[in-house]
Amino acid sequence: TEPRPASLNQVVEEVVQMMGHQFRKRGIRVELHLADDLPEIPLDVERIKQVVVNLLMNARQAVNGRGLVRVTTRRDGDDLEMRVWDDGPGIDPAIRDKIFDPFFSTKSPGEGTGLGLSVSYGIVQDHGGDISVESEPGQWTEFMVRLPRERKPS
Ligand code: ADP
Ligand code: MG
Repeated sequence: TEPRPASLNQVVEEVVQMMGHQFRKRGIRVELHLADDLPEIPLDVERIKQVVVNLLMNARQAVNGRGLVRVTTRRDGDDLEMRVWDDGPGIDPAIRDKIFDPFFSTKSPGEGTGLGLSVSYGIVQDHGGDISVESEPGQWTEFMVRLPRERKPS
């Protein structure tokens, strides 16, 4: 679908509401820190939802019932930024470069296909943005999605 001006916060809130039960039943806390001054930006809403779902699903699987997941939005100059943080086991630096590859997964077949991050990467690229990750092994992981306010011609 065509991108149209939409609220990133609203997308986040809808996804968190939609997935809320999955977190609650495992005793995982989801904190939202949504900036209240965000402009609408051109979004392919259904596909951006997919990105948020993928990142939250990974966070949920990472914390595995004893944790905290935090979703933050903020404005950064001409970009909007969304971060998904979890206090799970982190990402081994040895595989850090592979996690965005299609079909790369460390999960058992029932739990993951290894497509979530590669699909998300493509969706964010199509919006003219980028997605990156930081992690402290044994401590936490944070994915950062940056979306431009104006679509630059590609
Ligand atoms: P899948 O979730 O199906 O394995 P993804 O593309 O979503 O595929 O993720 C690829 C891999 O990246 C995962 O198998 C996992 O090793 C790693 N990963 C992704 N998100 C996290 C996270 N929040 N914490 C730790 N590892 C993660
Ligand atoms: Mg996944």
